[in-house]
Amino acid sequence: MKILINSIMLLLLLACKSKEQSVNEVIWDNVQKNDQKMPTPQTGDWLSYHKEKGQTFEQYKKSKYVQPTKNRNIIYVLPIGNFDAKQNELIQYTAEYLEIFFNLKVKCYKPVSDSIIPSNAKRISTFDVEQLWASYILNPFLKKRLPEDAIAFIAITEKDLYPEPSWNFVFGLATDNLGVMSIFRLLENENYTLCLERLIKVISHEMGHMFSVSHCINAVCVMNGSNTMEETDKQPNRLCSDCLKKLSWNLKFNDRKRLERLLKFMEKHQLKKDYELISKDL
Ligand SMILES: [Zn+2]
Ligand SMILES: [Zn+2]
Repeated sequence: MKILINSIMLLLLLACKSKEQSVNEVIWDNVQKNDQKMPTPQTGDWLSYHKEKGQTFEQYKKSKYVQPTKNRNIIYVLPIGNFDAKQNELIQYTAEYLEIFFNLKVKCYKPVSDSIIPSNAKRISTFDVEQLWASYILNPFLKKRLPEDAIAFIAITEKDLYPEPSWNFVFGLATDNLGVMSIFRLLENENYTLCLERLIKVISHEMGHMFSVSHCINAVCVMNGSNTMEETDKQPNRLCSDCLKKLSWNLKFNDRKRLERLLKFMEKHQLKKDYELISKDL
């Protein structure tokens, strides 16, 4: 009797799994239909400087991708700097977005002052602003503080970042389960909708890398490389079908539910362009 019950449960489980799988596949097909071809790179664009190989879904599945486990499945966010009330609010919304985008629990720490970063990991840039050394923040700073149950740990800095002394600046940097991004260049504008649109774009891009997704050349996508704010502004807060499949497969999305939640987020924050794109995907 016990064997019979067990096998019925197993069948039910398999039936549920395949149903969810097919629901996801319907969404994947729809997303693929809505994928937009990448435009020819203009001078100054990311692809005019960087030869990207791309990464198919099959290649992703064969790679050593980062995957949450029973004991390591939380995304931690640590704001570093003195943020004003509006900036703190934007960081909270960003944390909410990450929870929906990656289908994982997100814990956001209270901000810490950047006096915690030693002076040899700071510099005054050629354009006269103080910058923090992104590579130092990743390792040893975040690495030393990585919580036991963290699948990803990302810092958001108020100040500008540089990856290494020869570079002018960087929007963000990520390796394995550690990441850092700066709001400095994203929030130069008084338009808070645009600021939020940029924040969620840069952070989900960096965190996409943290879950082993490479730069995308398949279609217009949040995982496309970007050289400038102008280029970033042209990109959508949307995963193309290839990148969606990778994260959906790895992070066990219910793609319909996820897109519905993303749509609500876009509606609440009046992110009109992204709202329209996601409505079509649904
Ligand atoms: Zn990137
Ligand atoms: Zn993509």
